[in-house]
Amino acid sequence: MADFDLAIIGGGINGAGIARDAAGRGLKVVVVEQGDLASGASSASSKLIDGGWCNLERGALRLVRASLREREVLLRLAPHLVRPLRFVLPFDAERRSPMRVRLGLLAYDWLGWRKSLPGTRTLDLITDPAGQPLRRHFQHAYEYSDCFADDARLVVLNAVDAAERGAIIRTRTRCVRAERAADSWRLILNARGQRDVVTARALVNAAGPWVDIVAETVVRRPLTRPLRLDRGSHILVPRLYDQGWAYVLQAADGRAVHVIPFAHDFTLIGTTEQSFVGDPTAAAPTVGEISYLCDVINDYFRATLGATDVVWAFAGVRANPETGAGKLRNVEGRHALILDRHSGAPLLTVVGGRLTTYRRLAEEVLSRLAHVFPRSRPWTARRPLPGGDFADDGAPAFLERTRHRWPFLAEDHARRLVDAYGTRIESVLQTATRPEDLGMRFGGDLTATEVTYLMRKEWAQTADDVLWRRSKLGLRFSEAQRTALEDFMAQANSRAAAGADAPPSSAGGNGTR
Ligand SMILES: Cc1cc2nc3c(=O)[nH]c(=O)nc-3n(C[C@H](O)[C@H](O)[C@H](O)COP(=O)(O)OP(=O)(O)OC[C@H]3O[C@@H](n4cnc5c(N)ncnc54)[C@H](O)[C@@H]3O)c2cc1C
Repeated sequence: MADFDLAIIGGGINGAGIARDAAGRGLKVVVVEQGDLASGASSASSKLIDGGWCNLERGALRLVRASLREREVLLRLAPHLVRPLRFVLPFDAERRSPMRVRLGLLAYDWLGWRKSLPGTRTLDLITDPAGQPLRRHFQHAYEYSDCFADDARLVVLNAVDAAERGAIIRTRTRCVRAERAADSWRLILNARGQRDVVTARALVNAAGPWVDIVAETVVRRPLTRPLRLDRGSHILVPRLYDQGWAYVLQAADGRAVHVIPFAHDFTLIGTTEQSFVGDPTAAAPTVGEISYLCDVINDYFRATLGATDVVWAFAGVRANPETGAGKLRNVEGRHALILDRHSGAPLLTVVGGRLTTYRRLAEEVLSRLAHVFPRSRPWTARRPLPGGDFADDGAPAFLERTRHRWPFLAEDHARRLVDAYGTRIESVLQTATRPEDLGMRFGGDLTATEVTYLMRKEWAQTADDVLWRRSKLGLRFSEAQRTALEDFMAQANSRAAAGADAPPSSAGGNGTR
């Protein structure tokens, strides 16, 4: 008998989402991730939980509608993580007809049911504060709603929930070979140099932009459908303007570039789009992409940006199934599920997808595997993600209660913890009554108490896991502070290896081993 019902290669949003769904249906699930959770495309996205209105212009109505519905679902499941945001889109008649944009946004509102978010309106940029940071010749704009979320934390929360429902999450574990027998898969794993073997009745290849590498070299069943890889880069600069809304700028090449307030003191700008060939691990922003993004800002904003203003830049690669022709060819975020069940245990390969639609994709995966796991029903639309179970009075009231319960927390610190952990803040802070109870402070407002929680419950093993994927505190850390954190975590890891303490990434804890 196989060790697991379902093995999943890849701990990005799709792998974690499928694991959560499958574990909640009572299946025995294992996820193997070669690096940290969300170390691939799922921490390098534009972080929008959106309908992708540009896809309307390409005729991808169904994808936009599905994305908008998911936006509404995710707002409900993770109100601490998924934040509504207003987007200001200045008219530039030379680049896109305002009437065309207006019709597109009306359709967007209509398709999205707009249950909880306000609809589109027109702004006079001469009088509206949204016009202030922009160059004078932009006189009108549309303003519409979408959402923003910390992509990497969305992955981690799905993995936490999956683990709490019994899934085994193995990070830093690379699947080097998958061998198929009549009724199961045998996966050969390499976990930091240690070889291990697990078996499962079905296998999902959710390796994101590595999907074809895994198909060819690990599963040795090359993909039967073509895919395209695209790289997108983002830059982060010191805050460009004080207000809380975002901008959508139309670049000269027709792309929409988003300008989003980020981690209080910064502005996130992206993305570019270049076709990509090779190993996605090597993807990095180029000098040309950085200057392209600065140029788009300089076309619209009064402030001038140059490469020296960039405090952080990152690139991600996405896989796109080659399914369309003409305009449809450029639709971002479509997915294809390829089921191979002809010779033995089933293999399902996920190509493409969006952060926004991961939950629906997971449901589709389970329904495509219904011949193997017949008695299971969709459930994930109804159950909040960890920390998302706010009372009816919502996140602002919860923040108030948090400040009352732990009055020694500074307002920004309390807000960051509520945004990251929601109601799970209770498990992070526990019975602390004074700042000293939170232990060593490494930098920013990161304390030993929080790091210990992340190591025990969220598979954090290195300083970068904490500073760049479980949070974005890396933006506020000096190299010396980072080294102190790395040392602290290395010592905790050695204590755990010696059996004194058990982090979830090695044994027990969060249902992992
Ligand atoms: C630039 C950019 C911007 C985007 N913006 C948005 C957006 O704003 N909104 C939106 O909805 N979507 C957006 N997307 C799309 C979204 O980010 C992706 O669809 C999603 O992150 C893909 O998730 P995934 O789990 O399939 O892949 P990944 O997150 O890449 O996960 C795959 C994982 O598989 C692991 N892996 C690979 N090989 C092995 C192996 N042999 N063994 C074990 N593990 C392995 C990798 O380490 C990786 O962590 C964007 C994508 C990009 C590139």
